[in-house]
Amino acid sequence: MAKLDSKSRIKMNDGRSIPILGLGVYQSRPGKTTVDAVRAALELGYRHVDTASMYGNEADVGRAVRECGIPRKDVFVTTKLWNDDHGYDEAMRAFDSSVIELGLEYVDLYLIHWPVPKLRLDSWRAMKEIAKSGRAKSIGVSNYTIKHLEELADRLGDVPAVNQVEFSPFLFQRDLLDYCAEKKIVIEAYSPLTRGKRLKDRRVAKVAESLGKSPAQVLLRWCLEKGLVVLPKSTHRERIEENGEIFDFEMSEGDLAVLDDLNEDLHVSWDPTNQK
Ligand code: NDP
Repeated sequence: MAKLDSKSRIKMNDGRSIPILGLGVYQSRPGKTTVDAVRAALELGYRHVDTASMYGNEADVGRAVRECGIPRKDVFVTTKLWNDDHGYDEAMRAFDSSVIELGLEYVDLYLIHWPVPKLRLDSWRAMKEIAKSGRAKSIGVSNYTIKHLEELADRLGDVPAVNQVEFSPFLFQRDLLDYCAEKKIVIEAYSPLTRGKRLKDRRVAKVAESLGKSPAQVLLRWCLEKGLVVLPKSTHRERIEENGEIFDFEMSEGDLAVLDDLNEDLHVSWDPTNQK
């Protein structure tokens, strides 16, 4: 594996690139908590923040990004279209509200948060217009299964740049990983720390101990080894730092095999499997 660092990027199928490490801010309280978390992450070398209109903290993310002193082009900001805002006109309006909240001229990535039935194709048409205008540099989806991706390809002939889904060794989505690799869709792993639910797993702990790293770092590194973008969330500076220190070690074939075996289809967030 090529030597990576916190600012490393991977190529997307639209010719742009995305930093492999991003700070998640879901359930990060609006106001000082979120501003401080994003500031800390940017100070510690993160160059990517993942928010959504549904999180209620776009304004805080935007403020931290605007005030951080790092050139705007070097910080990657993602936000998302919420379920109540689907449809062509609605999506256009929702995007306008998001950029106003963020106080930014453009976002790097705009995602459909969830594959809302009936309306998602109209929303995607709006996203394409937004991308054409340059106000979203890249567009993608979230919580899409292969079925939803195939619908987009069959009906509109489109392939999103990114699919943001829950991913961890405990939810090792091999089929989706293979499908997205073939279509050159970047997978972003959300809830990569299982929201803390499996950080005490003894098999993870054993690998972590042998590497002199923490269980959180091992879960994140596993995602990187699979070629994914990782989006750990924390509002604590020391954890934000810990989650960013995943570039000074590699996992052996043996370590990877142990983690590859942990799948239990665990969804700690949403499960889109049965979404029509
Ligand atoms: P994570 O798997 O990132 O886990 C976050 C939890 O783990 C928090 O409770 C945090 O606590 C704790 N934590 C963070 N770092 C450590 C550490 N080093 N050791 C121990 N505990 C730690 O869950 P999320 O669900 O937040 O997912 C991450 C991001 O992915 C979200 O913030 C969001 O940006 C995105 N996401 C997207 C979804 C979508 O539908 N597109 C759905 C869900 C998430 P604390 O903050 O107190 O440190």
